[in-house]
Amino acid sequence: MVGVLTSLAAAGHRSWVVGGAVRDLLLHRPRHGLDFDLATPAEPTQVMALFPRVIPTGLEHGTVTILTPDKLKIEVTTFRGEGAYSDGRRPESVTFHTDLDADLARRDFTINAMAFDPLALELADPYGGQRDLAARLIRAVGTARDRFAEDGLRPLRAVRFAGQLGFRLDDATRQAIRGALPVVRLVSRERMAEELGRLAVSPHVARAFDLLASTGLLEVLAPPLAALPPARLGHLGAVAGGLGGDPPDLRLRLTALFHGAPVPEVEGLLTGLRFPGRVASEVAALVARHACLRQDLLEDPVSPAVVRRWLAGVGPARAPALLALRDAEVAALPPARRIAARGAARRLRTRVEAALASGAPLESGALALDGRALMALLGCPPGPHVGEGLRALLDLALDEPGLNSAAGLAGPARDWWARRSS
Ligand code: ATP
Ligand code: MG
Repeated sequence: MVGVLTSLAAAGHRSWVVGGAVRDLLLHRPRHGLDFDLATPAEPTQVMALFPRVIPTGLEHGTVTILTPDKLKIEVTTFRGEGAYSDGRRPESVTFHTDLDADLARRDFTINAMAFDPLALELADPYGGQRDLAARLIRAVGTARDRFAEDGLRPLRAVRFAGQLGFRLDDATRQAIRGALPVVRLVSRERMAEELGRLAVSPHVARAFDLLASTGLLEVLAPPLAALPPARLGHLGAVAGGLGGDPPDLRLRLTALFHGAPVPEVEGLLTGLRFPGRVASEVAALVARHACLRQDLLEDPVSPAVVRRWLAGVGPARAPALLALRDAEVAALPPARRIAARGAARRLRTRVEAALASGAPLESGALALDGRALMALLGCPPGPHVGEGLRALLDLALDEPGLNSAAGLAGPARDWWARRSS
């Protein structure tokens, strides 16, 4: 990155590191695998002429991406000013210029409107970014109401940064969000999902979710959640926050945030937000099964067959996720109820882990007979009855795992077939 800056400077274009890289540098936060953004007075054609590997990512907005020998992708954007925003999404025109402060003025928040020149070791901070970093505040550059009216993504970014950094929103910035909701509705669903996803896996997700609810943004993102009483919403955020994970698991975090919505609506809400279909369906499956963590699993003593049946029902691969959710639920309880619930959750975990480790078959794929072997044994053709037969055998083996050998299942398989054919 310094090499890119040096080349630009040698050609007479003093250029600056901007955006998240400066913010994270000042916060002493490591930046793994994240992008580096540079701002330069050079025009895109001048930048492209200086480097062998450049992608014209957004020429009309002044952005090109330089691929460096050490495999970094560096976005270089020409200092620009923006014309009027008429659609709440992007400016109608951009003009290139050579004024750094004017370039920083178009940026969203003061903590994102600083520029650093590592060659001269100089920081440009015309809008009080360092002051707000120290005060842990997200504050719009200029008048929040106007800046949000230009671009409906900004309120979502504000809340996402609050979640990532654990910062508060400056009062005026927070209060300006409600009036900007009509503009937020114009943002593409993909970009909403991107912000919601990043917020969901952020370290301060409970705070960010609370902000989504209190500013009205949640009404735009997920109306069935916005309709919930505040205590219930607080619970959803607290469960999400109680889920550890390094890095946190998006599906688990979304399950926590959406487990207050009616189960049949969860998948549609997430696909409507353009989350990938697999994410949406898995979250919906987890929400449905999370809700039915049943009391009979917690009784003392509990029959191991009850635990195996539960695992077979939810799908054994989902057990770790459901246990993690249960632990996060417990952590979100008020202290007086937490202690007893924690004991029960531990017992459940021990039982589930024992069942998983026992080698007992918990899904038809784990049976000693597969479909082909079953057909050979019964002398029957393929068809839906094969799956049906395997399920019947699994049902038996859940009660009696000792049956799970080719020899042990043969008799029950023949009996089942005889019953079915009669
Ligand atoms: P991250 O750590 O997520 O990369 P970032 O601050 O670098 O955070 P980017 O989306 O990479 O965010 O954008 C780089 C910079 O461009 C921002 O810091 C900000 O100065 C500016 N910017 C990005 N999106 C907007 C926007 N919607 N409105 C105004 N300025 C923006
Ligand atoms: Mg960035």
